[in-house]
Amino acid sequence: MMEFSDIERCILNGFSLDELEKRLKPCKPQFEDKVWIDTSSGGFLAPHEKLLGVVRADYDLLCSIGKTYEEMAGFAAKVLEYEKIREDKVDGNWLMRRARELSLGFEKFVLNRGREIERESMSLEGNVCLDAEKFTFARIISGGFQSCPWGCNGSDVFGYQTVGSGEVYVFESGKEISDLMERRFEGHLPISMNHNLSRTERDTLLKEFDTSLGIEFGGMSRVLYLSAYTVVTDLTPHLIASHYFFEGEACYRTDPRKLLDVVGLK
Ligand SMILES: [Zn+2]
Repeated sequence: MMEFSDIERCILNGFSLDELEKRLKPCKPQFEDKVWIDTSSGGFLAPHEKLLGVVRADYDLLCSIGKTYEEMAGFAAKVLEYEKIREDKVDGNWLMRRARELSLGFEKFVLNRGREIERESMSLEGNVCLDAEKFTFARIISGGFQSCPWGCNGSDVFGYQTVGSGEVYVFESGKEISDLMERRFEGHLPISMNHNLSRTERDTLLKEFDTSLGIEFGGMSRVLYLSAYTVVTDLTPHLIASHYFFEGEACYRTDPRKLLDVVGLK
């Protein structure tokens, strides 16, 4: 394993820590001085977190369990591959199905996904086994794209893509819908359906309701994250392999221990 000082140098490569943390914390994507800063509204780090503290804790964990970043990135890629294989088995026009599912709202999308594709455990190369009895996998696609916050382009040296548009949430079977998700859905419905409200009033009330649930940022992504066992995004393999980063406790962290559990190696 590399020394932590080498990892720190690679992470900061060309950036100040302040600049990097600003890019990683929840923020709507924006142009800044004519430069595209592709921030994430869900965030790669929670507002209170420190980048090097998060990376150090995962580094210590990997050292203690004897796994490398490359191996861990490979496991994350297997989760994405598994979901892709299952997706290809669905009858009908997959894109139309997705559009329909998304129009029903994320809550129902997640609720339905586990049921409509037959559960199937799968062994993949590298002694990885994804147990469909234990976990339910739900892929969410977003309308937009998220690029690597370090500003990478194309594929990295490991062959992982540096831009993505979706993520796979892994739920413990039988726990696909959490109390939090249900409460939010029930609270949002009457506000969203109240046509006497202006758009601004509606947004304010929805935001207040989210705050009352403890969801101060990230919206539905945060609800899904808090409801799921773990999540793997299209960017996860690249972030782990190239930036030694499993993300913080915001919306998309892939906890290394949970990842090993999901691929049957715990
Ligand atoms: Zn990158």
